[in-house]
Amino acid sequence: MSRRPEVLFPLFGELTGLDAVGPKTARTLHQAGLEKPRDLLLMLPHSGVDRHRRASIRDVVPPATVTVAVTVGAHLPPQTRGRPYRVQVTDAQTTFQLVFFHAKGDYLQRLLPTGQHRLVSGKVEIFDSIAQMVHPDHILPLTLADTIPTFEPIYPLHAGISQKVMWKATRSALALAPDLAEWIDPALKKREGWPTWHAALEKVHKPAAMTDLSPHDPARERLAYDELLAHQMTLALARAVTRRAKGTSSCGTGILQDKVLAQLPFAATNAQTRAIADIAVDLASDLRMNRLLQGDVGSGKTLVALMALLCVVEAGGQGVMMAPTEILARQHLEGLRPLAESAGVVLDILTGRDKGSARAAKLAALAAGDIAILVGTHAVFQKDVVFNDLRLAVIDEQHRFGVAQRMELGAKGRAVDVLVMTATPIPRSLALAQYGDMDVSVLDEKPPGRTPVQTALVSTARMDEVVAKLRHAVAEGRQAYWVCPLVEESEVVDMTAAEERFKRLRAALGEGVVGLVHGQMPPGDKDAAMARFVAGDTKVLVATTVIEVGVNVPNASIMVIERAESFGLAQLHQLRGRVGRGAAVSTCLLLYQPPLSETGRRRLEILRETDDGFRIAEEDLMMRGAGDVIGTAQSGLPRFRIADLERQAGLMALAQSDARKLLHDDPALQSDRGQAARVLLWLMEQDKAIRLISVG
Ligand code: ADP
Ligand code: MG
Repeated sequence: MSRRPEVLFPLFGELTGLDAVGPKTARTLHQAGLEKPRDLLLMLPHSGVDRHRRASIRDVVPPATVTVAVTVGAHLPPQTRGRPYRVQVTDAQTTFQLVFFHAKGDYLQRLLPTGQHRLVSGKVEIFDSIAQMVHPDHILPLTLADTIPTFEPIYPLHAGISQKVMWKATRSALALAPDLAEWIDPALKKREGWPTWHAALEKVHKPAAMTDLSPHDPARERLAYDELLAHQMTLALARAVTRRAKGTSSCGTGILQDKVLAQLPFAATNAQTRAIADIAVDLASDLRMNRLLQGDVGSGKTLVALMALLCVVEAGGQGVMMAPTEILARQHLEGLRPLAESAGVVLDILTGRDKGSARAAKLAALAAGDIAILVGTHAVFQKDVVFNDLRLAVIDEQHRFGVAQRMELGAKGRAVDVLVMTATPIPRSLALAQYGDMDVSVLDEKPPGRTPVQTALVSTARMDEVVAKLRHAVAEGRQAYWVCPLVEESEVVDMTAAEERFKRLRAALGEGVVGLVHGQMPPGDKDAAMARFVAGDTKVLVATTVIEVGVNVPNASIMVIERAESFGLAQLHQLRGRVGRGAAVSTCLLLYQPPLSETGRRRLEILRETDDGFRIAEEDLMMRGAGDVIGTAQSGLPRFRIADLERQAGLMALAQSDARKLLHDDPALQSDRGQAARVLLWLMEQDKAIRLISVG
């Protein structure tokens, strides 16, 4: 089945076939990402309005939405411009007014002829002690009263689309929904009391009361499960392919690794040693490695990566390590090159900044195998970058690297083993969503000799004190980061804030003491500013969150974060992880703008209480929401339309084991249930996954 099953055709047709959707509305819906009936069906109402019919508005406590039959009375057109048009109406017990702004009189005359009966529904308010309904949601002849539901679902709206259109369109999309064969394990479905797919759709789009909108309603749960199951099927298929794929067996000799370890002033931690051994086993096997190395900030992931890279070099191959930013790539170069060279291994860098003949020379050296290890940014995976014998790709600090990209990478190298490193300790349900296709090594132990960072909450009202302390610390030879507020998801706004703070601190602490780095700076300036800070020439580095991941300056022992309340907890934890790397006692000051809400304070206090990245991540998920934890848009985390990873947390683990079991029992998805699951994949547009289904 390499083409969409016919049974789904109606759901993948044009929107214009639906009620209330003409070409113009269809265009508006398109812009909102709703392109076909299927998209409408998968967008569930998030709320609802009770439109139960009442005899009168009299006993209602306004403001409240009321649905009532009325007799239309006098029209009261506006006397002066800008005043509303009013229509008197009388229900069984009382009289009130319908109010319209900017309305055309003749239109209202036709809609509400005096003396006729109408059903009106809308919000009743009291204004100038008169009960009124401004712009009723519905005005209908009594003969059509049944066309509005007694409980109306409310959809998340996009500009230019009304609830009425959404409702009508979704209704007619529902009429197109076929009965589909069941893909959920029958025992599970029974245990959970889930309805069929079709019945679930009917139920969620035609709720009868508020309780039907709960994430724990069986119909909603079932549809959420469908979504997660499709996702986990994709991951399980990717995993199956990876495992089937012949990798190259790289058996390291340990000679280069030993040389490098001998250079280090410390011994590897037990956790590092374990991870290095896990990886060596994967590399030696002729199955392709797809491993996640998870470790809190400062847990020493870089050393593990280097050992893995040396292992493939020992076996005669090449390795590449990709960092998310130029700064980090350079830092890896500076940190790793001396170690590699001490073992006679050539390590070089390639980023978007390499141009012209210099770049050509590097590419030639890579193709000839003269560069054994390449570090860099995304540039290392450009089309014209060809290796002589690439065996291992390490992807560092990559919460911006999703399943799809990993699949692409897998396709690029013939048999490249992949090691993904992340410092974001993520809760289990998210880890399953994002990395469900991988094997995992965890660095659950920090190198010895670290003193915990002392964390304090300080109001911005005490800014002067903070600056005075900073001056004192600088005089003692200490270094500090000063992270500027994340005002919006806008680099430009961040930049302005950072430049402003830079000027003020420079005025307070002296010329040459303060440096500045932000995402909008020309790359060369950025490097230079970082380099001056690393060398200790500048003592205070004002920065936007570009320093969030990876940057390592052991002498920096103070971290000031402005408007800490605007950051995610996991992000604050990352930032704090930039200090506490040397012997000195380190401090993290979380500056907040009062007043701080109760939850706002609670969030920040968690950081004061614990240094455990996993605990912080769990709390963050509970308080904020899945997308935000990893930084929504650029995160590799898939966006789920229906599933709510916080409130339906258990479903993800269920979906993973179910998906893996289904594929284990029926790798080619040929059984009845397997066939049904294919339809699910098509329905959920997991086209990539379908191509991965084993052919035999
Ligand atoms: P991260 O996991 O955040 O990437 P790094 O790899 O940057 O952490 O390591 C943080 C710091 O700890 C570096 O300065 C590194 O040299 C040091 N380090 C790594 N492993 C050890 C160890 N086993 N003992 C002592 N220090 C170590
Ligand atoms: Mg790192």
